[in-house]
Amino acid sequence: MKALVCGAGLAGLTLTWHLERAGWQVELVERAPAFRDGGYMIDFYGPGYEVAGRMGLHPRLEEVRYPVDELGYLDGAGRQTSGLRLPPDVTGVVSLLRADLARAIADTVRTTTRYGTSVTAVAQPPAAPVQVTLTDGSEHEVDLLVGADGTHSTVRELVFGPERDHVRHLGHHVAAYSIHAPELSREIGTRYRMLTVPGLMAGAYALRGERLALLFLHRVSDPALPADPVAVLRERFGGLGWILPEVLPACPPPPELYYDQVTQVELGGWSRGRVVLLGDACQAVSLFAGHGASMAMTAAHVLAAELTAGGLTAGELAAGEIGPALAGYERRMRPVIERVQRFGRRFIHWMAPPSRLRITARDLLLRAAALPGADRLLVGSLSPGGHGRIP
Ligand SMILES: Cc1cc2nc3c(=O)[nH]c(=O)nc-3n(C[C@H](O)[C@H](O)[C@H](O)COP(=O)(O)OP(=O)(O)OC[C@H]3O[C@@H](n4cnc5c(N)ncnc54)[C@H](O)[C@@H]3O)c2cc1C
Repeated sequence: MKALVCGAGLAGLTLTWHLERAGWQVELVERAPAFRDGGYMIDFYGPGYEVAGRMGLHPRLEEVRYPVDELGYLDGAGRQTSGLRLPPDVTGVVSLLRADLARAIADTVRTTTRYGTSVTAVAQPPAAPVQVTLTDGSEHEVDLLVGADGTHSTVRELVFGPERDHVRHLGHHVAAYSIHAPELSREIGTRYRMLTVPGLMAGAYALRGERLALLFLHRVSDPALPADPVAVLRERFGGLGWILPEVLPACPPPPELYYDQVTQVELGGWSRGRVVLLGDACQAVSLFAGHGASMAMTAAHVLAAELTAGGLTAGELAAGEIGPALAGYERRMRPVIERVQRFGRRFIHWMAPPSRLRITARDLLLRAAALPGADRLLVGSLSPGGHGRIP
């Protein structure tokens, strides 16, 4: 069986890993010109962490993880108003750069990624392989086309229709970049510090190599992306204190600056014929839910399990019939995704409080959580349905 996977992110790489081990022939295309390091920090746990374990990645994740032992919330002037000590070394939870996780998977994948390449056209003649045209002009006939190309998926746009029909905006833009800042990096240490004023959040944490990673969230009434995101960040956050006067002038332009809308993706169905969507392309839960990476890897594992001999009958495999496998994948994943998406929407007001009242409520809750044992309860409650299992 032959698959073309569009998007070498967490979902695309994980699926490729599984399919090539099941004897599939896989082609993997990625729009970025080369592997992109850096990016933003994620908390990685739950079923995706379990999938990573089955792929033998846990030792590597231990090497690249960052210790984060405290969350600290600051006011607009940089004074800490509340905080939460995190229990040390919670089993099955790691904080790491998304790119370090992607690199860990990529290093175990045999298929060569074709960088600087994407899909431009898809045709599905009845009872025949799917025909895919790539940006380099080449044409491919495959049993399965997988759109693992993120929230702004091109495969989704080509096969399922325009983005506006499938994307729910959560009222915020997000930005992330990192800078070389030895002193600030030392000062922040192993704490994740966040300044919040109504509608704005700026977070910082230290990276190896004397670097500092910055994350910004701001409320917007119009989801359209600005022409000059650097100017927007400086304008919205420029009047605040703490380290912002030092780090904002060093903000690089895209693509080193990651800047995007905060969205969830919702589709009536995740496959059409021999085309299936995977990861953020069909199930983005948003950074508010904090499970997107875990869900992307889980979905890839489930899709592969359904597509390989365990999921398909011998007759279906022989006939190249993949419909039941794609339906099984969606049946297993959709309820989990819908639960995590609901959790993400409820969490918006905690992560990016819209008013002073909300900020005060959060600070009071975090002070209560400083009581012995309460910190564990709070951290546990930040996960929808606990850390979950592979569905
Ligand atoms: C700031 C931030 C913080 C987050 N924090 C967390 C967290 O704490 N925990 C967590 O679990 N998740 C978190 N997430 C979410 C998580 O990063 C995503 O859900 C996850 O990366 C989704 O994986 P994916 O493979 O579907 O998409 P991606 O990782 O986005 O990969 C998609 C790939 O497709 C490529 N691509 C895009 N378009 C095309 C095209 N047309 N053709 C070819 N290739 C293309 C992209 O370059 C990329 O390599 C966070 C996200 C953000 C933005």
